[in-house]
Order: sequence, then C-alpha cells, then structure tokens
Amino acid sequence: MKSKLMMAEVGQRRSGDCGTPFCFFQAKLPQKSKRRRSRDMTNQNPFAMMQKQLDECGAIIKLDPGVLEILKHPKRELQVAIPVRMDDGSVKVFSGFRVQYNDARGPSKGGIRFHPEETIDTVRALAAWMTWKCSLLDLPLGGGKGGIICNPKELSPGELERLSRGYIDQIAAFIGPDKDIPAPDVYTNPQIMAWMMDEYSIIQGKNQFGIITGKPLSVGGSLGRNDATARGGVFVIREAAKKLGIALNQARAAIQGFGNAGYFAAALLRELFDCKIVALSDSKGGIVNPEGLDPKAVYQHKTKTGSVVDFPNTSKITNQELLELEVEILIPAALENVITEENAPRIKSKILAELANGPTTPQADSILYQKGVHIIPDFLCNAGGVTVSYFEMVQNANLYYWELEEIHRQLDKKMTKAYQEVAVTSEEKRINPRQAAYVIAVNRVVEAMKDRGWI
Ligand code: GLU
Repeated sequence: MKSKLMMAEVGQRRSGDCGTPFCFFQAKLPQKSKRRRSRDMTNQNPFAMMQKQLDECGAIIKLDPGVLEILKHPKRELQVAIPVRMDDGSVKVFSGFRVQYNDARGPSKGGIRFHPEETIDTVRALAAWMTWKCSLLDLPLGGGKGGIICNPKELSPGELERLSRGYIDQIAAFIGPDKDIPAPDVYTNPQIMAWMMDEYSIIQGKNQFGIITGKPLSVGGSLGRNDATARGGVFVIREAAKKLGIALNQARAAIQGFGNAGYFAAALLRELFDCKIVALSDSKGGIVNPEGLDPKAVYQHKTKTGSVVDFPNTSKITNQELLELEVEILIPAALENVITEENAPRIKSKILAELANGPTTPQADSILYQKGVHIIPDFLCNAGGVTVSYFEMVQNANLYYWELEEIHRQLDKKMTKAYQEVAVTSEEKRINPRQAAYVIAVNRVVEAMKDRGWI
C-alpha cells in the first residue's frame, strides 16, 4: 500500500499538495469570463484577494488599523537568482523567492512551488494563507512560501536536481529547522524535498532532517504525509455532512483537479464513506458518469494516456461544467479563482470543500453564502498537509516515528476541532465560514504579536 501511494505522489511531478495552479486553464477561459475577471483586480491577483479578505476580517473584529496594516504585508522576502548548468552545457539562471509572512506563533512553514508563471504576489498570498492555516489548526508555526519560476516538465531529472540544490544554496541562510521549514507544493514532490534536505545538510555539515517536510520515508518522512491534504479535507467533509444531515453513502461528489489532492480525495471519499464520485477532471478536461467512477481505475487510465479524458463509459465535460453539476459535494482541488461572481449563482452543490488554495473570489463568497452553500474554506479544508508536516517535524526532532493509525487519529482530532470552531464562530457572529476562519486565525496571531510586544 505504502509503495503504491508513494508512487502516486513521486510519479506525478505535476501534482502539488494543493493541486495545480490556474494558468493552464486561463488561456482556455471563455472571453466573457475573462472580461468579467478583469473588472476586479482581486480576481486576478491572489495577494490583493487575500488583503481584501483580511480587510473584511479587520472590520468584523474591529482590528486596530495599524495592526491590520502590519498583517497586510509579509515580514520578510528573499529573491534569488539560481544559476543551473543545463544538460547541453549552457548555463541558465532561474528566479526564485522565499517569503516569510508572519512568524509570531513560531517558525515560518510552507511549501515550495515550481511553476513557469510563478509571481511574487502569488507566493505572498500563499505565505499569508499558510500563516492563517497554521494558526487556525493551532500549530505552533508561522506562515511562509517559496517558488521558482521554471517549467519542471521541460527539465531533465539532473537539471531538476541541480535547480533544487541551487535554490537551497541561495536561501540556506534564510531558512532553518527553527526558522523556516519548506515542504512540497505545486509541481514539487518527496524526491525534490530529499535533494533539498541533503543540500542543506551538506552546508551545515550534519544531517538536518528537520529542515524540510514531505520527505521520503527513508530520510525522515512521516507516514501518512502523502495523502494528508486530501484525508484532512475528507475528515472536514464528514463533519459538514453530519451537520447538514447528508448521508455520505448516498452523496455525489464532483472533483476538479486530479493531482495529489484531487486523486486522494476521490479515492478516500469512496473508500471511507462510499460516496459516489460522479465527475473528475484534469487540465485537459473532465469526465462524468452518474453511476459513479472508480478513482483508482481513472488514475491508471491517466497514467497510461496522460489524462482522465476518454475513460471508458464516461461523457466529456469541461472544467467549468463540472463546477455546475448537481452534486452534494463539490471539490475544487486544482485552480485559483475558478468560482467567481459570474458562475457562483449556478453552483448547485450543498458543500463546497476547497482543497485548492484560493478557488473562490470574495464576490463569489457572498453569493454562495446567501444561496446557502456550505463552504469549507481553503485554509481549513486543505490544512491536512501542513498538519502532518508538523507531525513530521515533531518526529524528526524526537527521532521517534509514529504508527500510521496514530497519524490519522491526531490528524482527525486537529481537523475536526478546527472545523467545529469555524462552525461555531460562523453561527455566533453570523458571518460566512471563511470570515469565521479568518477571525479565529487572525485573533491568535494578533494575540502572539501582543504577547511578544510587537504591537
Ligand atoms: N503546501 C502545503 C500547503 O499549502 C503544505 C505545506 C507544508 O506542509 O508545510 O498547505
């Protein structure tokens, strides 16, 4: 079982923890959506979107304007140039970033993205969301994120290794096991984490397993890390279904994105709760079968053909159509900005479980809330990955490794508690679940900043 799961993660270089980013779809968006999106900067710039969400939170908790201003900016950022010797003997210089957003509650934590359209603002937004995510889950960690502008699909394994090691050479002084701990994200995987850990260990002159999480099991990785993002999401979907009185064994689910998060979400919903997975998609398109799909068989088909499309006994649908299907559970597990004010009125799902980071714009949020869609916001829904990363850090520090059952039990406990806290805050304050998650997370960060005498 273990080796099969590892294969699913290692073998799929495209699959980050929270799915793939939005750019591959943008080119294919209909003109109408493009026009609508350009009217509002927050729809295009994830950092502007994060700042808008933070403004809403500030207004709800009557946050001091000066403190709000501090929280709207990353504490530290590093931009680096990484020279890499390519296989043909030439030298190419890649740009990379590492952002430490806020470390009031502990060392910065967050993944590294390899992506051709990476921008500093995307990394900033994601570093901020990591801050709120760690705080909401009550992990003793701050938030960070890194990225390299590159297309890993065009690099040979050797080039990829030299790029990964080169990035660590450039940021080594900026990170550390008690300072900033990276992890996998879009297009990065356990093998890349192993190279990075090794490079940092060479620089330090000793093994430093605690510098990075999401490592292979052979070099200090944790059991249960490979499917942790999806498993955490499935635990909170279970709680939401309980709350709404939805019987999961009669529920239909549609999942956008078939990377690490999307694939395991589909497999676990079916395996643990007997949910019917009626639609799946990847960057090439989607498939639907009202009778239900077997995610493992679809995975094998994708491995063979490069896409979920044309899986036997399915009809083709677009990624846009998938979002509007009549289902009980809708899981965007790939792209940012896919649910906007334009399509939000047509979303029919009862539960919207955001495994991707930033799939819903603030405008769409209020439309969905008014429609009664139960949103499980991204930094709650996809927090399983960083939660097991935290368990990995604890295990590395103690040189003692937990059983898989223990990981699952502790992950369930953390996710369920955070879900309940968001639900209670949302009801008590009559605010949408995303605002509730922000209120809890930001209050905790502000409390730490106050106690440290920063404000
Ligand atoms: N990249 C994942 C996230 O966005 C995991 C981060 C981590 O494990 O540090 O939550």
